[in-house]
Amino acid sequence: MTNAPFDVLYLEEGVERLPFTHKVLSRLPGVPVERVDSAEDIQERLARTEADVFGAGKRRLFLSRFRGDFLKKCPGISPGMVCCNYYVVNLIKNCVYDCSYCFLQDFLSNNPVLTAFANPEDLVRELEATFRTHPERSFRVGTGELTDSLALEEVLPYAEVLVPLFNRYPNAVLELKTKSDIVAPLLALPDPTNVIVSWSLNPPGVAELEEKGTPGPHARLAAARKCFEAGYRVGFHFDPVILHPGWEKTYAQLVDDLFDSVPPEGIEWISLGSFRYRRGLKPVIRDRHPETRLFDSEHVPAEDGKFRYLRPLREKAYNTLRRMVQDKSGAVPVYMCMESKEVWEGVTGHTPRADEKLDVFFDL
Ligand code: SF4
Repeated sequence: MTNAPFDVLYLEEGVERLPFTHKVLSRLPGVPVERVDSAEDIQERLARTEADVFGAGKRRLFLSRFRGDFLKKCPGISPGMVCCNYYVVNLIKNCVYDCSYCFLQDFLSNNPVLTAFANPEDLVRELEATFRTHPERSFRVGTGELTDSLALEEVLPYAEVLVPLFNRYPNAVLELKTKSDIVAPLLALPDPTNVIVSWSLNPPGVAELEEKGTPGPHARLAAARKCFEAGYRVGFHFDPVILHPGWEKTYAQLVDDLFDSVPPEGIEWISLGSFRYRRGLKPVIRDRHPETRLFDSEHVPAEDGKFRYLRPLREKAYNTLRRMVQDKSGAVPVYMCMESKEVWEGVTGHTPRADEKLDVFFDL
């Protein structure tokens, strides 16, 4: 790995004996290594020396051992919202990218040090036991709840552990959700079975202003094309949709670029979600990203307490994007995650349960 994204690598007592730690050390030559007792020790140091503690946490990697159950039901289910039927495993907390809208800025404010768990073999054991015990159940498992699933793959090689495991279980699907173009480690693996790689997309101007450190949408689409050609299932998230002057034109161009890169038969689904935030996130965004245009529009709290664009604006955006996709292909499923039943009905004319194709995603 060149251009190591870390100023220092912290090792928790005991992780230096784990094979995963050896792999990470070999990929970060020249990065100073320190032993620490806990993430709190690092956090205290950062609090004493750094003005932007959250941003500084992104440049420190803490390798730790995870104790407990990795597999969790997606916590996105909240009052009044329709949520995907989804499980998460969190192998990494925090992210090397720095999107202005990222909820981690608030969610991880007490523990922002970029933390990775060095015992993925314990996760493999847990997942195998779960998939075997429940052959009648489907498991859609994502690793991108508290991080970007692929941005650090060259430093933290989790895919080579996870992908072969999912290859073996027809009742399980691994979703790697990313804004990165780091797909070489995936392309080096022999079997893409039961793996979906999905990209969050925004128009170039939005990505440049609001998604710092990420490759632009064209680089992401080129990476998606490579994965499609290698046999991976590919999905896309227009999430968060960010309304801005001329958004209909910029998103139309993005949809064009998407379908120029991956043909409809290669696209598993496209999800839509609007910019949303909890009250506490707004001052953090204003402080850390003073140039943001996120708050040029009005937002109102929904039933789950999160602020969103006014419902007519959201419905217009979803309708417009859905139509753009359907004009390209009627065969690509489009769904909305973290939206109310009313919005689903307003946009699609039905709740997702009435759509058999999408049943797999929902747990109503
Ligand atoms: S890529 Fe995702 S996790 Fe990373 S900073 Fe952006 S929103 Fe947050």
